[in-house]
Amino acid sequence: MDIPQLDLSRQYEEIGPELEEAALRVMRSGRYILGPEVEAFEEEAASWIGSGFAIGLSSGTDALLAALMALEVGPEDEVVVPTYSFFATAGCVARLGARPVFVDVGDEDLCMAPDQVARALTERTKAVICVHLFGRCADTRTLRKLCDTAGIPLVEDAAQAIGARDGGRPAGTLGRLACFSFFPSKNLGALGDGGMVTTDDPDLARRIRRLRNHGQETAYEHLEVGGNFRLDALQAAFLRVKLGRLEDWIEGRRRAAERYRSLFSAEGLDGLLRAPRDEPDRHVYHQFVVRVPADRRDPCLEALREAGIGHNVYYRVPFHRQPCFGPVPGNFEVADRASLESIALPIFPELREEEQVHIARTLARALGA
Ligand SMILES: *Cc1c(COP(=O)(O)O)cnc(C)c1O
Repeated sequence: MDIPQLDLSRQYEEIGPELEEAALRVMRSGRYILGPEVEAFEEEAASWIGSGFAIGLSSGTDALLAALMALEVGPEDEVVVPTYSFFATAGCVARLGARPVFVDVGDEDLCMAPDQVARALTERTKAVICVHLFGRCADTRTLRKLCDTAGIPLVEDAAQAIGARDGGRPAGTLGRLACFSFFPSKNLGALGDGGMVTTDDPDLARRIRRLRNHGQETAYEHLEVGGNFRLDALQAAFLRVKLGRLEDWIEGRRRAAERYRSLFSAEGLDGLLRAPRDEPDRHVYHQFVVRVPADRRDPCLEALREAGIGHNVYYRVPFHRQPCFGPVPGNFEVADRASLESIALPIFPELREEEQVHIARTLARALGA
């Protein structure tokens, strides 16, 4: 049995004809960048999420970049980010000449630890970026209080978390601005690159719209220096098809996660590995990352490989140990430990029960359950 970590061909089997129809519609329209298809997607996405505005962009990375540009992050500024995330979270800060200030994460959620953020704020802090890691919201209630008190905007890196909720409130409405990615492997994936910013602030929304198109509001008048961060009509059309399925797909991921937890218990794995918990509100399981004792990880990875089970390690090298940033002094104990313990298992809505049984048994054998 070969089980890929993510199998998008199963999704294509379900919606292929609709995607093909959408592609034809765009190809025949003669409008390929921005335009009505992107506007329709933006309206549908804003209403799906519950945000005032949604602005389609060229990638999640560009969404972060445009969000920070709209907040006027630049040289001399500091932006507080968790040390444990995908590179873009910190890379975008550095690209603007600002300094990413790394903080450790919480042991339970692996999202930025609010008490560490409180200690990292200085008079130079221009923004705080929280990452809803693996599809679970960061503790935005505490972070927002901290940021509001300090008068600093909270930016959500929600690239992995469309549809997630914290205290009943959806990702994308929890900070001043939120950034999404439509990289194909994300929970809502395009057939290429794509991204989005959401906000309730009309001025920031307008600013992002202008930044994505070289700072123009009217043709050839550049009010500021922006970039080409535009979303393609084709990608918007694909995303409109997939947005209609997203709620069902999230429920499918959540069912798969629940099945993993009960299979792990049945296999006697409860004391031997840590599975993500379904807290605090709605986890959307972009990744299902388990943690095993550091000295057992290599044997587990080897067993998964031998059994034909796709897997990955997120993230082997936290930001504070990346060659381009570090080594950065400080205590990043939780992230360092997580980088040695984590294993991302296959998770996607179409994952079959017998595949999960095989995965749980393989881990049970590798861990001597
Ligand atoms: C995927 C991702 C991004 C970047 O998105 P791209 O669309 O690949 O540029 C940023 N942050 C996080 C946490 C991500 O997972």
